[in-house]
Amino acid sequence: MKIVRLLYKKEELWGILKNNHINTVRNHPYQRIRLTSKQILFKKVKLLAPTIPTKIILAGLNYKDHARELKMKIPKEPVIFLKPPTTIVGHNEAIVYPEGVKRLDYEAELAVVIKKRARNISARNAKKYILGYTCLNDVTARDLQKKDGQWTRAKSFDTFCPIGPWVETDFNPEKANIKLYVNGKLKQDSCTSNFIFSVDYLVSFISKVMTLLPGDVISSGTPAGVGPLKKHNIVEVEIKGIGRLRNKII
Ligand code: MG
Repeated sequence: MKIVRLLYKKEELWGILKNNHINTVRNHPYQRIRLTSKQILFKKVKLLAPTIPTKIILAGLNYKDHARELKMKIPKEPVIFLKPPTTIVGHNEAIVYPEGVKRLDYEAELAVVIKKRARNISARNAKKYILGYTCLNDVTARDLQKKDGQWTRAKSFDTFCPIGPWVETDFNPEKANIKLYVNGKLKQDSCTSNFIFSVDYLVSFISKVMTLLPGDVISSGTPAGVGPLKKHNIVEVEIKGIGRLRNKII
């Protein structure tokens, strides 16, 4: 099932995408979904980011191929950081290149959307707390990350967290192909089988630090092949079994 959030005739709605149409839902999708009788043609809507989180928690180094590329040791426990919810944009929305930034990087990532309040849960139970999966681009001002010695400014500019195009509920995060394209050219190409920490482990680990609420986003890190973006580039994150998230740099 593909859960979408959309703008239609100036109204923000939630819906389920099936073939070329969207069935709108009565409630928000973090509860049991109740469909309305309203159907809208997919091509008539503008997609919005498919979740409204209270926080976005991201894992640092979490792919073996990326650790090898950086000549770094495999970490013993996840390194996590936050992006504020104001960084979020949806499919086809613009990423704004901030003035003064010298190096802007893409990072293709698989993200999880939380379904219900989770506090101190085990990895074995994590799936019960996951609504579904989506594509995320962890846009980073690399020069500022190095200069500041910590990550907040580099990761937190408005528009630095494209998410979408939808939340896929039927998806196996253990062996999914993940790719990133800049202007149609393949730049990252890996598989989530290269994960150091599984998605379930990350959800559990983070839930032991902070309470996770419906809609919260957990992102699982990026594979090898990170590189720069320039103004007017089209950047796309594609995860097999989910879809393709497209954004333009302005
Ligand atoms: Mg990242």
